[in-house]
Order: sequence, then C-alpha cells, then structure tokens
Amino acid sequence: MKQNDEAWEAVNWDLDFGSFEWMVHLAACFNRHLPAGAPWTEWPGWSTDMPGWVQDKNRPGWLSALRLIHTHPRIAVKKSVVSVTSSHGITRELEDVDVSSRWWHVNVNIDWNVPRPLVAALDELHGPSPSHAFVPGQMEQLCLGVDDDSVSYGLGLSSVLQAMLDEVVLLSQATNFHAAKCRFCHETTYREGLRGQGFPPGKEVLFACGSCTGEPLTN
Ligand SMILES: [Zn+2]
Repeated sequence: MKQNDEAWEAVNWDLDFGSFEWMVHLAACFNRHLPAGAPWTEWPGWSTDMPGWVQDKNRPGWLSALRLIHTHPRIAVKKSVVSVTSSHGITRELEDVDVSSRWWHVNVNIDWNVPRPLVAALDELHGPSPSHAFVPGQMEQLCLGVDDDSVSYGLGLSSVLQAMLDEVVLLSQATNFHAAKCRFCHETTYREGLRGQGFPPGKEVLFACGSCTGEPLTN
C-alpha cells in the first residue's frame, strides 16, 4: 500500500524500538496522511518485537492517547517518560509508560499550601472545603488510571493526561481527603475521600487504624 510505504519512509530509525516514544512516533507516521484535527484511525503494522501487543478492541483508545501525546503542545515523550505541563505551568512526569500500564503514579509536586486562586477554583467547583487549602503528605502522590477492566488502558492514560493538563482537575483529586481519628488509639491523620469532612480539629471522622485492627501494612 502506497500510504504505508510513505509512513515507513517518514520513520526515524534512531529511536529506541522498545520505548513508548517509538510507539507514539510510529503511530504518528502511519496517521500523517490524515487532516490535522482528525482522530487517528491507522494501527501501525509493527513487528512483534515492538512495544507491546494491543487487542483490536482497545486500539482506538490507544490511538487517541498516542495522538494526544503527539499533538498537545504541553505534552512531550522521551524514551518511556511522558511529561505534561499543567495549565499553571507545573511539569509532571509519568515514568515507564507502556501499553500494559493500567495505573500511573502522579506526583502532585505542590507546596503544602495550595495557591489562593486554585483554592478559589476548587471551592467554586465543589463548594467551600477546608481540604482545598493544602495537600497533605498522604495525597502527594496520586494513583490514577482505569477502574474498569473492560476500558482500554489507552483511554485510561488519556484521562490521566487530561487531569495532568488541568491543575484544577488534578488538585480536585489531591484535595479530596478528610481529617480522621482512630477510634482506638486516637491518632489523627488524613484519609482519601469524604472531601473536607472531619474538620476542624476535634471533629475528625472516626475510623480504625491498621495497627489497632492488626492488619498487615500495605502500600
Ligand atoms: Zn489506632
């Protein structure tokens, strides 16, 4: 097929064939004939030693993620690291990205105190909450991805990238926590969910902590 011959002619053979960067690049070569702005439709005809195999039904989701990475001015890929600069100019990285990744760790990388304009945006989105003012250590690294196994992991990656592009969306997740106190040992902490409940001090949501229930510590 002439179109495929032209795609192969555009390939940069200096890239690492095992990297995610190569996958993005190859998909871009195979979809370069499409008008700018059109969704990508062509799954590259790469050989089996290339980065990962994707079921037919999951390919459209991956093509949309690859296109987002290739075309968005605030997203870049180098080897298998995807970096995203948010609407507020903070650059964050996803490491070891490949087609079998379902969950990604995103470091929020923000001072304990959330900047005031962002607190105002969060208050407007969710209603005022004391949890919007800061990001505690427990929420500094978010685990984002797809809950539903039937969803293409590519679509999951797209949603993670969209959250990383928009500081308010990312901070919405990082500030969704509550103040909690163990009903047995009375130790206080912050726990994910229940946005802003359990404030002020003395009003913490009661729970049973891991050491009091004797559960093994998990990450
Ligand atoms: Zn306890």
